[in-house]
Amino acid sequence: MMRNLDEILNRDCLTKDEMVFLIHLSGENEIQKLHNKAKEIREKYFGNQIHLRGIIEFSNYCRQDCTYCGIRKSNNLAERFRMSKDEIISVSNQIYESGIKTIVLQSGEDLHYSKEDIAEIIIEIKTKFDVAITLSLGERPFCDYDLWRKCGADRYLLKHETANKEIYKEIHPYQKYENKIAHLKYLQNIGFQIGSGNIIGLPNQTIEDIADDIILCDELNVDMASFSPFIKAENTPLSNLPNGDMSLLLNTMAVARIVLKNAHIPSTTALATLDELGREKGILAGANIIMPSFTPYPYRGNYLIYENKKCISENPQMCLPCLSLRLSSVGVKASDSYGHSLKI
Ligand code: SF4
Repeated sequence: MMRNLDEILNRDCLTKDEMVFLIHLSGENEIQKLHNKAKEIREKYFGNQIHLRGIIEFSNYCRQDCTYCGIRKSNNLAERFRMSKDEIISVSNQIYESGIKTIVLQSGEDLHYSKEDIAEIIIEIKTKFDVAITLSLGERPFCDYDLWRKCGADRYLLKHETANKEIYKEIHPYQKYENKIAHLKYLQNIGFQIGSGNIIGLPNQTIEDIADDIILCDELNVDMASFSPFIKAENTPLSNLPNGDMSLLLNTMAVARIVLKNAHIPSTTALATLDELGREKGILAGANIIMPSFTPYPYRGNYLIYENKKCISENPQMCLPCLSLRLSSVGVKASDSYGHSLKI
């Protein structure tokens, strides 16, 4: 059946079938139309403003063993590190001084930091700096989330990675899909702005699976949805797999923008790893978030979830002028607001 692209792009709601059709687009003109529509929707909600989130990857210890991940617990070649509370606060100060209004605290699932340790860090950051806090610490007991929310943490990022339960089981030896969804719902119920998302390029993943990931983000009413490419990591079970496809990824981000409308969508560092201009292309396909890493040297070189990660040798201070130029090259600029969810 012939489909009319213009007509589909003008619909307010898309069926799964239409999402699959759009993600599949391969002609240059068609792709341009799709990305233009996504950009138009991004501009409707966010104008020409891009939110920056300063990320601190403070520990690469992890009790999980996700088969795609370079810091999975079985990777005995990963050089492990943990940052102290004082180091984390000092880097938080750098983020705040640079004018960024969100600090993302990210680590592997590392129970070395008790719920009280993380609570102390949240309280100190919130007391000293006027910033929003996003946590990305994996699955923890619900009582940990309760405490961290009470201490003032604003957002929690917990990607579901794939809505295909069979693939989920294959790539997460110790985790259950149902638990991940239950955690996301719990976090949302206690007042966190939640973020989820997928990886594109997983073994046996179909375009239908990718459309299901977008549908799941919509059903969960996520505040942020992150779509990133699979990039192989050394010494992992998936190290022989090809990297995710850039064009598929950009189409997915564009379709996600059309479906999820005002949700935040990051243009991830992984895009820049696949393509020198990847982050800019992500913005032109509807993304509105960039997450520069402030993880200090020498730790940043060891937070290698995947190979050839971009921007690991640069001083974080040098990243910002570079980012600013990159943003203006695609007609946007950094916002000076917290960049909270537009859904609250
Ligand atoms: S993806 Fe996250 S939870 Fe899985 S092994 Fe890597 S750091 Fe741990």
